[in-house]
Amino acid sequence: MSLPNKSFAMVMTAKRELTPMDIAIPDIDDDAALLKLEACGICGSDYEQFEDMLRTPMPVVPGHEPLGVIAKIGDRAAARWGVDVGDRVAVETMLSCRHCDPCLGGRYHLCDSRKIYSYIPTTEWPGLWGGYAQYMYLHPNSVVHRVDPGLPPELAVMFNPLGAGFRWAVELPNTQPGDTVVILGPGQRGLASVVACRAVGAGQIIVTGIEADAEKMRIAKLFGADHTIDVDNEDPVRRVKELTDGVGADVVVDVSAYATKPVSDAIRMVRTGGKVILAGMKGFKNVENFVSDYVVTKEIQLQGAIGVTSTGYKAAIRYIESGQVDLLKMHTHDFALPDAELAIKTLAREIPNDESIHSCLIPEH
Ligand SMILES: [Zn+2]
Ligand SMILES: [Zn+2]
Repeated sequence: MSLPNKSFAMVMTAKRELTPMDIAIPDIDDDAALLKLEACGICGSDYEQFEDMLRTPMPVVPGHEPLGVIAKIGDRAAARWGVDVGDRVAVETMLSCRHCDPCLGGRYHLCDSRKIYSYIPTTEWPGLWGGYAQYMYLHPNSVVHRVDPGLPPELAVMFNPLGAGFRWAVELPNTQPGDTVVILGPGQRGLASVVACRAVGAGQIIVTGIEADAEKMRIAKLFGADHTIDVDNEDPVRRVKELTDGVGADVVVDVSAYATKPVSDAIRMVRTGGKVILAGMKGFKNVENFVSDYVVTKEIQLQGAIGVTSTGYKAAIRYIESGQVDLLKMHTHDFALPDAELAIKTLAREIPNDESIHSCLIPEH
């Protein structure tokens, strides 16, 4: 594959500011690779980064959900990763050190000195650390997964949200066939959680959202949700109790952003001995009406979830490749790379009369 000497990239230079730039494509050594991007997914974290809520070093190339084709790879990287030039791969977000206690304990996403693609500034060689670009540098500690090259890129790139669905709604709570699962928040992570729970044979799946989420709720039902609850017009705790004969849900997964009420609701609607997974960030706000005695008296297992690891990504990729569910039902927009800002604003409901659920950047080839 012949490589250009520069890559176009959208670089975050200040809060809410993305600047088009050309960045030199580096020479790579034996342990690294270069990815030619086919798609980069956009999610709520992109908006948080754009709003500078995540204290990103700048300037930086954002884009933490990259899918692409290996354009160049060193011999040692090819042997270690089991991929070669021309292979389509999904790239994991975290670069972990593989030496600290969390890494050696198998929790590499909690690495003490982790680096995260899209949070490494362009001033750090070679600058191409994110997916808002035509090319991306793949560091020697990258973890990549092969993906069927026959799938459309906007579908293949869903390895990221669906990976979260499998890790947060199935793997961490150990969701079993027949379990009643409540998913708080119907965004792409919530919808992906519905798909993952349905895939493993969950029983009743209930999704909550606000009145403005009607379209997302419709898709939740297409993906196999049994009930949706509009929290603007119904009391979600009472409704979940009704739907479970007063018992409560086996598993509750909060993937809602900013709103804190779902957290206090979760511990009320989960059954005795049930599990609550908290995966939605709230901007470090206090949670009102959080009664910890429910956690004690019901022996609730309460666990946080940050990021996705290889098991979740692999389950997601296999499931996407199986074609069992038409995940493109939640894909609403493709954006060209220079329209990255529009992509973020469309997700964040800042564009009048338009709103995305799942969207991605497709670099022009
Ligand atoms: Zn994301
Ligand atoms: Zn580590």
